[in-house]
Amino acid sequence: MPLDSALPAAGAAMPPASGAVATVRSACPHDCPSACALEVERLSPTRIGRIRGNKELPYTAGIVCEKVSRYAERVHHPDRLGRPLRRTGAKGDGKFAPVSWDDALDEIAEAFLRAEARHGSETVWPYHSGGTLGLVSRWGLDRLRNAKRYSKQRSTICVGPSSSGWQAGVGMLTGPDPAEAAKSDLIVVWGGNPVATHVNLMSHIQRARKERGAELVVIDVYNTPTVQAADRALILRPGTDGALALATMQVILSEGLADRDYLARLTDFDPEVERHILSRTPAWAAEITGLPEQDIIDFARLYGRNKRSFLRLGLGFTRSRNGAVAMHAVSCLPALTGAWQEEGGGAFYARLEDWGLDLNLAHGLDLADPEVRSLDQSRIGPVLTGAPGALEGGPPVTAMLIQNANSAEVAPDSRAVRTGLARDDLFLCVHEQFMTATARYADIVLPATTFLECDDFYMGWGHSALTVGKRVLEPFAETRSNHDVVCGLAKRLGAESPAFDMSAWDLIDTTLQASGKGRADDAAAKGWIDCNHPFEEAHFLNGFPTADGRFHFKPDWAAVGPYHAGLPELPDHWAVTEAADDARPFRMVAPPARTFLNSSFTETAGSQRREGTPTVLIHNDDAAAHGIAEGASVRVGNGRGAITLTARLTDGVLPGTVIVEGIWPADSYRDPACEGMGINQLVSADPVGPVGGVAFHDTAVWVKPAGKEAAGAA
Ligand code: SF4
Repeated sequence: MPLDSALPAAGAAMPPASGAVATVRSACPHDCPSACALEVERLSPTRIGRIRGNKELPYTAGIVCEKVSRYAERVHHPDRLGRPLRRTGAKGDGKFAPVSWDDALDEIAEAFLRAEARHGSETVWPYHSGGTLGLVSRWGLDRLRNAKRYSKQRSTICVGPSSSGWQAGVGMLTGPDPAEAAKSDLIVVWGGNPVATHVNLMSHIQRARKERGAELVVIDVYNTPTVQAADRALILRPGTDGALALATMQVILSEGLADRDYLARLTDFDPEVERHILSRTPAWAAEITGLPEQDIIDFARLYGRNKRSFLRLGLGFTRSRNGAVAMHAVSCLPALTGAWQEEGGGAFYARLEDWGLDLNLAHGLDLADPEVRSLDQSRIGPVLTGAPGALEGGPPVTAMLIQNANSAEVAPDSRAVRTGLARDDLFLCVHEQFMTATARYADIVLPATTFLECDDFYMGWGHSALTVGKRVLEPFAETRSNHDVVCGLAKRLGAESPAFDMSAWDLIDTTLQASGKGRADDAAAKGWIDCNHPFEEAHFLNGFPTADGRFHFKPDWAAVGPYHAGLPELPDHWAVTEAADDARPFRMVAPPARTFLNSSFTETAGSQRREGTPTVLIHNDDAAAHGIAEGASVRVGNGRGAITLTARLTDGVLPGTVIVEGIWPADSYRDPACEGMGINQLVSADPVGPVGGVAFHDTAVWVKPAGKEAAGAA
């Protein structure tokens, strides 16, 4: 019996008023910084109605995105996987027959043991990604990995460049609660689109605008809904944010707007750094970014004169070969002005560290062997196809359990990913909620619960609370939670940890108590645990979390990650992006669609209606030059592949930039020439320095009317 099935469905219920629907507290598991505390209408033990934001958690403030508000469409979707399946056709065909849970788990365990006997334990690569950010559901797989000495995973695909760039200066992935934006005089949203992807932030920004007359500046590469909501927008070329940051600092220094006392007390700023920054003029940056020089000067003066200024740094501008360098350069700004000292001032990127959680038991951290290799999650294609260096000198990967990941569509270099997944000598188990492109390659597919059908807790990496969600519904059909699958396999594989014999709820309760954060039942009743830091700590008033307590204008990239060769020694624009040329005259950016989240929600009718069809945004002048009309079918490609999209003409990008929103299922392109692959077939899997990660927004392409692309175009 699944462990969760032994528990009563018991999210903290608020008794309904007479005739009203029962409302149950939960928390959103999706790959989104908001980690919203939720209120779910429970219509019966197996059905929900609407989902709303919990009004009592100040960051959620009663607001959730539209895709989760209509989650009933997803959890009750007719295409949910309900039974374990065994492959009957060729890999990728999607032909399967039902199998019992016991037989499925036995087969997986036997395949893992066989692979281990032949190649050693590192041949097994458990793999997870952001389909859920549950601290039990996602990272519980690491307990099995560590107990069995299976290959580790470097989780770089989302935050590798951004996190490493932030660490290089600030030292740790932490900072003030972004709800402080409500107390700012100037908010700069840099490389993010919260109206579409992080909706709660906008309510705090709106408060600052309404109550304080704060100004909102948005910096991005196209005219997003957040740009449209801004008082001032800077639309620049992709991969040039470092140049804008440097020129902004140049103006601040030249015009005497820097806080010299703060620089001396809490940073490593010195004459070498100053000389370097003064050489990066607005004219220099205008040439690189495509921004008018005066716009750069005006922004710099606005920022330099508003000490109570808050930078909300998104991931978008870091998904580039120079992303870590750009993040570091931008993060220098509040150190230069001393904005960190103000309430409502400073910067926030993500709180991915500093939660004070003891996760040894839940994640098996104390079982990890430092000698076991660690493979780069972003390079699943090169890993599975044995590309030089990708296997870190170890054996081939011949067995995998994939949870919460649809790598066939989400990972870069889709062609290599699919070639790897189709290998006859790879045993693949995929534990999923729907028959994804990745699951179609599996030998065994296991049906997974959604967050409403299992217990978990979550780090609010875009705020300062742990959110908690106890099971709301009975598991659909024969679905089982990730925790149940990990525990079921552990028994068959001889893996040892007390956590393999615990229910998910007991594991959460034990973890919270070991971390000094109270009892799980109390947290579930409230919906969250407040983990805000005191002001002095959150704003680094007494020093930064670096070895010398100072913010580093001079990053030690070698200490941050292995791919540090060539990274600049001072904050800078690093000109290493995939350059446009005559054969590939456009730079393509592939940001999220508003109602998809990676490849999740692409199956729901509401999201499909909202998003319409896969499109490419192209500047009017570029379209005219290439004979492309509004609504025309165009091919977009490079040496890695090509896809067909519908052209949308706009003035909302700079000439030379094209935008393709959303990770659409490959069959959305209705194009046999796509060979069952989507947008990420065009994206390189080369690691981004210094720790790895994907340059999703750093791709040179050609765009041509369909039927006119040159065969073999580069
Ligand atoms: S805004 Fe983000 S965290 Fe909140 S409900 Fe939507 S996807 Fe979940």
